[in-house]
Amino acid sequence: MKICIVGTGYVGLVSGVCYSEVGHYVTCVDKDMKKVDQLKQGRSPIYEPGIEELLVSNQQKGRLHFTDDLAEAMREAELIVIAVGTPANKDGSANLSFIEAVAKEIGTHLTSYKVIVTKSTVPVGTGQKIKSWIQDYCGKMAFDVASNPEFLREGSAIYDTMNMERAVLGVESKRAEDLLVELHRPFDTKIVITDLATSEMSKYASNAFLATKISFINEVANVCEQLDADVTKVAEVMGLDPRIGSAFLGAGIGYGGSCFPKDTQAFIQMGERAGYSLKIVPAVEKVNFEQRERLVQKVERAFGGAGLKGKQIAVLGLAFKPNTDDMRAAPARDIIPMLMTAGANVVAYDPIAMKEAASYLPHVTFSESWREAVCGADAVMFITDWKEFKDLNLKELKQELASPIVIDGRNLFEPQVMKDLGFYYDSIGRMKIE
Ligand code: NAD
Repeated sequence: MKICIVGTGYVGLVSGVCYSEVGHYVTCVDKDMKKVDQLKQGRSPIYEPGIEELLVSNQQKGRLHFTDDLAEAMREAELIVIAVGTPANKDGSANLSFIEAVAKEIGTHLTSYKVIVTKSTVPVGTGQKIKSWIQDYCGKMAFDVASNPEFLREGSAIYDTMNMERAVLGVESKRAEDLLVELHRPFDTKIVITDLATSEMSKYASNAFLATKISFINEVANVCEQLDADVTKVAEVMGLDPRIGSAFLGAGIGYGGSCFPKDTQAFIQMGERAGYSLKIVPAVEKVNFEQRERLVQKVERAFGGAGLKGKQIAVLGLAFKPNTDDMRAAPARDIIPMLMTAGANVVAYDPIAMKEAASYLPHVTFSESWREAVCGADAVMFITDWKEFKDLNLKELKQELASPIVIDGRNLFEPQVMKDLGFYYDSIGRMKIE
């Protein structure tokens, strides 16, 4: 199948690479010439495990191309996939300006029947808007619109796409349905065929539910702290119930990233505009933000309420989760400014995301290694659960620190082990070691 993908970000590029890997012919379009040039040379502009190998091998097989010329890219394609960003507007609603621009451009260049499918996360009703934006520009040319929301996780995006658990196809015609089923055939996945609105809604409902699970376990953790219970064991017990499931029950400093924060907000706005005020999702957001504040309170408590003025705090981990360089809505972007406002000097290290982080956190000193970051620090805070941190030598960590204070936002270490090593150790929803 010949496919044109518009937008070569996390979703568009990963989809393009995986579609070509299973045998489709893909041309990816981006308006960012720098990205296109880099991709043509076989280099990925995003960090994603395994992406460059597949990128290069499919380029060599002639199944994967990159261009900034949409007209040329879509000429031969049967299917056009829209995968541009849908960031949040000031009021939290989804900003559809990139989608609108692409739809109008597609309309301008449409010279034969095609299916235009939206992979970007868009509010219910956007598929219909895309249809009318294209219609305004394409004259009498026939086409179909469809919705195929994306569920990949950054950090395991290639695996998730190659092994997708389900494909949701929101369609208005049999012709579009057949084409999208054909696209997904090599993935051997469960296909759910539905209408546009239901497909669009399924993405927001899924993300809001996952965000709810995270805030729920964080509230359980906060009560555990008051009552000397251990949230990790509570989560284990809950997760063994198949009605609950163990995923997304890791207590911590809350969710971040390019999807959950903006999608929960957009969901709230979508409800408001439709005449229904969501009650659970706003509470989920509130708990999520307070979880960041609680971590800062933990480090303040570690200094006996003496304040953070002049303290040197090492922050380990900046990306919103491991195996990505994505800093969009990363908890570190809330926590570090809180520390600095309280007067602390922050020295940070992340295995991958420091280049990205530098533009968001201009007053932070970055280190080349975790050792350099913690050397002489008054406390260390763990923000991202990179494997490198889980595996670090705790004795060495203690030697490097000026005072052995560890505030663990990701429950990386065992409280008893930290006690035996002589640390002051505070984590989320578990025994505090003083
Ligand atoms: P991104 O910002 O990484 O990439 C978007 C790309 O689109 C950019 O490279 C940009 O240059 C390009 N673009 C914008 N306008 C264009 C135009 N007119 N023509 C050509 N290219 C254009 O975004 P992303 O993270 O890949 O997310 C894309 C969509 O997928 C969003 O709606 C997001 O909510 C959704 N989504 C993202 C993830 C994720 O993990 N990142 C997961 C599921 C769904």
